[in-house]
Amino acid sequence: MVANARLAGGFTYVGRATRVVFGIGAIRSLGDEIERLGLERVLVLATPEQRETALEIASSMRGRIGGVFSEARMHVPADVAARARAYAGEIGADGALAIGGGSTVGLGKAIALETGLPLVAVPTTYAGSEMTTIYGLTEHAVKVTGRDERVLPKTVVYDPALTVSLSPALSASSGFNAIAHAVEALYAIDGNPIVTLMAEESIRALGGALPLVVQAPHDLEARSACLYGAWLAGTVLGAVSMALHHKLCHTLGGTFDLPHAQTHAVVLPYVAAFNAPSVPEAMARVARALGVADAVEGLRTLSQALDAPSSLREIGMRAEDLDRAAELAVTVPYPNPRPFDRAEIRALLERAYGGSVVAA
Ligand code: NAD
Repeated sequence: MVANARLAGGFTYVGRATRVVFGIGAIRSLGDEIERLGLERVLVLATPEQRETALEIASSMRGRIGGVFSEARMHVPADVAARARAYAGEIGADGALAIGGGSTVGLGKAIALETGLPLVAVPTTYAGSEMTTIYGLTEHAVKVTGRDERVLPKTVVYDPALTVSLSPALSASSGFNAIAHAVEALYAIDGNPIVTLMAEESIRALGGALPLVVQAPHDLEARSACLYGAWLAGTVLGAVSMALHHKLCHTLGGTFDLPHAQTHAVVLPYVAAFNAPSVPEAMARVARALGVADAVEGLRTLSQALDAPSSLREIGMRAEDLDRAAELAVTVPYPNPRPFDRAEIRALLERAYGGSVVAA
């Protein structure tokens, strides 16, 4: 039994009212869900790569679709969001339906934020954005993020069958993105026992099933466990504050254009190693969820088993940018259980850059 310090400390928990429909083949109930919300002219959103999937799903929706906009892109460029909103206006959309990963759900949120249109999400990665009130918008290379209840999807349909096409590499890094939400939720400054339960279960589900998915992408049972873990991870991401890991990843993704999910996969073991001495209870939970004796070692082993990227260098970071990255990461820092200074973050980034297996 791992001690639960949160109980004695007291806490606040906010439950959010998203309707979740989960299951293999759940996509077949999407029409009913749209009808349930009383929507008749829904704007379907997708990336260019997932346009065909979106069209196929839209065609089964009994004439409740107003149009398809398939230009969603990473980090929600403001001009793309503006065009999508204009198109929503043109077709008289009464709701938006995002089919895809965090980028597509992010576009749906940008529409919901400005127009108040209800959003329905069909997530096809493990990013977890569909469970949060966090939105982001990028203009002139600067990503602005905020929280607003209006962007939270009214309904989320999770169908593991839609994730079998996610490549092993993306499954691995997207899965690590989800695990990172859960790990940081375990030591969040505003954490609580309910979030702790969900976070630990999320790591258990993802840690157990991701290696199976990478070996056999069509294993629906393993895909179901991963999507379940991702749902829980998204829920805790939306419920509590994230810490150093997310700050570093936002800096690296936002300013140096590193790929989102892959950055999470590289950075997590390094931040976990750094924070571990300050958060023994959280680390005991991570270890228990992964079925190992040591959390940091367990995360590294999992990363290797998934063949996830292990250095910032291999995902496009330049050595000459490490100083600036460290500088940015310590300006307006997120709350973190272990205090840090610029030199410590520079050293952490150096380790992550080279992929060296060095502890805190
Ligand atoms: P993504 O949405 O950018 O998708 C990556 C690529 O994979 C795209 O080409 C997409 O079309 C494709 N893809 C997605 N699902 C697929 C599937 N099942 N089969 C085949 N191809 C598929 O990647 P992501 O990692 O899901 O999202 C990253 C973005 O989400 C970032 O901008 C990040 O900031 C944001 N995000 C936001 C939150 C939040 O709470 N607001 C949370 C997590 C991530």
